[in-house]
Amino acid sequence: MKNKTIIVSNRLPLNVSLPENEEENEIKILPSVGGLATGMKSIHQNSDSLWIGWSGIATDDIDESTRNKINKAIQQQKCISVDLTQDEVEDFYFGFSNDLLWPLFHYFTEYTHYKDEHWEAYKKVNRKFAEKVLEYLEDGDQVWVHDYQLLLLPQLIKEAKPNVSIGFFLHIPFPSYEIFRVLPKREELLKGMLGSDLIGFHNYDYERHFISSVSRILRYDVNFNTIQVGRRKVKIDSFPMGIDYQKFKEAAIDNTNKSQEEKSQLKVRLEQHLQVSNDAKLILSIDRLDYTKGIAQRLKAFEYFLTKYPQFQEKARLVMLAVPSRENVPQYQRLKREIDELVGRINGKFSTVSWTPVWYFYRSLPFEQLIDLYTSCEIALLTPIRDGMNLVAKEYIASRTDRTGTLILSEMAGAAQEMSEALIINPNDSNQIAEALKVAFEMPEEEQIMRNKFIQKRIKRYDVEKWATEFMKSLEATKDLQKEKK
Ligand code: UDP
Repeated sequence: MKNKTIIVSNRLPLNVSLPENEEENEIKILPSVGGLATGMKSIHQNSDSLWIGWSGIATDDIDESTRNKINKAIQQQKCISVDLTQDEVEDFYFGFSNDLLWPLFHYFTEYTHYKDEHWEAYKKVNRKFAEKVLEYLEDGDQVWVHDYQLLLLPQLIKEAKPNVSIGFFLHIPFPSYEIFRVLPKREELLKGMLGSDLIGFHNYDYERHFISSVSRILRYDVNFNTIQVGRRKVKIDSFPMGIDYQKFKEAAIDNTNKSQEEKSQLKVRLEQHLQVSNDAKLILSIDRLDYTKGIAQRLKAFEYFLTKYPQFQEKARLVMLAVPSRENVPQYQRLKREIDELVGRINGKFSTVSWTPVWYFYRSLPFEQLIDLYTSCEIALLTPIRDGMNLVAKEYIASRTDRTGTLILSEMAGAAQEMSEALIINPNDSNQIAEALKVAFEMPEEEQIMRNKFIQKRIKRYDVEKWATEFMKSLEATKDLQKEKK
């Protein structure tokens, strides 16, 4: 029988919705459209591959028979569910993963909280994942584990099944040693990751930080990008995650070809702003509402820009989409309040009868409207304080089919390393952001086109499917690495 690939991530690439009332008893399973689901599609579609993860529904929220029904429906999508209770989700996901690893890996050490019970839950849930994987895993198979919620999983699998190839990919930054060393349980976490045969990061900086942490904390031998772990060799490499370039390009072409009647109301309203004057422009900002994204700093920089360069008042409009995220976490609630207040202050200060400087949407938008935003805004202002990659930057450029538009991008986003032709800024420097906005407003179209041409070429070639296949190829190649003598 052919060897199979098992993909493991905290969440399965689908959304389960339970019946809303007694009469309705159908469980609905909808595929999710996120980047990871798209990238893994070609691998997951292979005849006997499986995806293992949590369904998003805690087991104590449903009875036994509903649970069985959900699991059956999920299996039809070649997915296997790991059952988690509400307490486990609370301590493993909101606790250890998002109250410690997430802020620390994004350099927000002051936001980290360590609790023993969170660590216990993290270990327990990683073991639960391992048990589920081992139920389906056979010698010769390969496993691809994703992200910071499952750092211990590679080792748990390797110990039980030394002959399977295990790949791990981290979707967030790996911080420098000086930050990583702050972590309680740092040895355990590194050893957990090193159960893999291949560990992938978005870029060389994260790779370097990881290797440096391993050699300083565990004192393992490192030879270029190979780490000696006992008798095994572990390869470390970078694979910058891409987007489904073609999908964004085609959607953008459809979008720009729409007649006036076919356009959405959003698109019509966006275009009305551009008719105010020849040099009116829309500035786009899209992120999940997360403290790592630098949304408050971005608003302050926009305010500074309007103050320093009043000639752009009435002409510049910031269209800001903030997608709700982790809404029951106090840190995120405080940030939401801060952003609400800043938007209110800026609009209160500058608005005129015909102009509101910030258009603020706190929700997620369907794909079609996202494309309306990408195609209508001539400037994108993406200024995360830290970001593993930032796919929005790539989606924006892919959607600019006539190649006009200016991307202002934080140097702290992983994506900046592939987009040096964008206007790269330090997200903590309001003055630099204001200057970049001015440059973007005044940049000749030929220059915009020239810059975007290079970026488009790069992100088209290394799209999300390429990212996934390159990783799998590299994982396959680690089998030869193990045969080499120490
Ligand atoms: N996105 C979405 N709906 C929205 C706004 C954004 O699905 O209303 C998507 C967007 O297209 C992108 C992803 O969310 O693919 C955000 O990815 P990114 O890497 O920029 O940030 P993350 O949220 O993963 O930190």
